[in-house]
Amino acid sequence: MHSFFLQFLTILLITCNLLSACKNEQIDQSVQIVGFTMGTNYKISFIPPRSTGKLWQSSIQTELLKNSVEELLEHINKQMSTYDVGSELSRFNHNNSTSWLAVSPELSSLVAEGLRISEITHGAYDITVGPLVNLWGFGPESHRDQIPSDTAIIQSRAQVGYWHLHTNLVSPSIKKDHPGIYIDLSSLAKGYAVDQLAQLVETNGIQNYLVSIGGDLRAKGHNGKNQPWTVAIEQPVPGQHIVGRLIQISDHSVSTAGSYRNYFEKNGQKYSHVINPHTGQPVLQALVSVTVISDTDMEADTIDTALMVLGSEDGFKLATEHHLAALFILVSPDGKRFQEIYTPEFESFLAISRIN
Ligand code: ADP
Ligand code: MG
Repeated sequence: MHSFFLQFLTILLITCNLLSACKNEQIDQSVQIVGFTMGTNYKISFIPPRSTGKLWQSSIQTELLKNSVEELLEHINKQMSTYDVGSELSRFNHNNSTSWLAVSPELSSLVAEGLRISEITHGAYDITVGPLVNLWGFGPESHRDQIPSDTAIIQSRAQVGYWHLHTNLVSPSIKKDHPGIYIDLSSLAKGYAVDQLAQLVETNGIQNYLVSIGGDLRAKGHNGKNQPWTVAIEQPVPGQHIVGRLIQISDHSVSTAGSYRNYFEKNGQKYSHVINPHTGQPVLQALVSVTVISDTDMEADTIDTALMVLGSEDGFKLATEHHLAALFILVSPDGKRFQEIYTPEFESFLAISRIN
């Protein structure tokens, strides 16, 4: 579910004092809760609610909320993380049984969502890609930075296939057709967790917030200066954080998938953590990042990875056909110039054309 490299954010959260573009003298009313989860940082910015005319009892209530946030994240990791050998998902992955196994409703519905997108993309996106992700060293074990042998790739690829995985939502359970099936939910788990955090924040009476885990975020209402939440999509330059596009969102989720952070380099070739299940190889293409805006962050997170695997042509076609708000960033062969293509649905979120 996480990796060391995810410590680098793919979306920069912009605070007004960082940018002259949104400079103003208003006092920021927002409160922040920050922490670490899934190999990256999480941050919740919110405007404290005024209930029964009283102000949010700042430090105590914020501390209590932070405790609930940490508890929820721990709970989600205990269900979905492949990095926790004792999680519900890991127990399923390491269980050789091909019978239906009872799981939490949350895990079965996440698997159902993963299978839905796997079908739409004809397996370009595939939540059973785990054996290949692990083989290439992007799984829970430490990075090997080694190109696997052709034989090993063929063997792992033979284990992969979403059609060998089934889920029952009525009586929450999942089933695999052969013991080699290994589910990897890393492509959507952060999005799911962001949605859950947003729900938690709302049950605490908060209506204006921005919740983020790494490059996944969800916003509602307005920021502490009574303006729409503004976030920056980073330019996909390894090792740097350069602000690219600014987008304004007031009731949406954003997720960015990229091949430019989590990769290793061998003989001048970059191998990223996004794997094409049909070839068994990391995607090798000019497409370096995809940002998707959607109602739920789980959907945005699932689709950004799916579009990343499909590539700029097929991915853009799918995004257009499904009226998705998506931005694709491609890099020139010398790595110096970027080209952006986005759908009309994405355009409506662009705040200021460009600030650098
Ligand atoms: P990040 O983890 O950086 O947020 P993504 O949301 O794109 O990025 O998820 C990438 C992860 O998805 C990989 O680390 C891997 O675990 C998993 N993955 C890789 N290839 C595929 C694929 N074809 N289908 C589904 N999941 C994939
Ligand atoms: Mg994703």
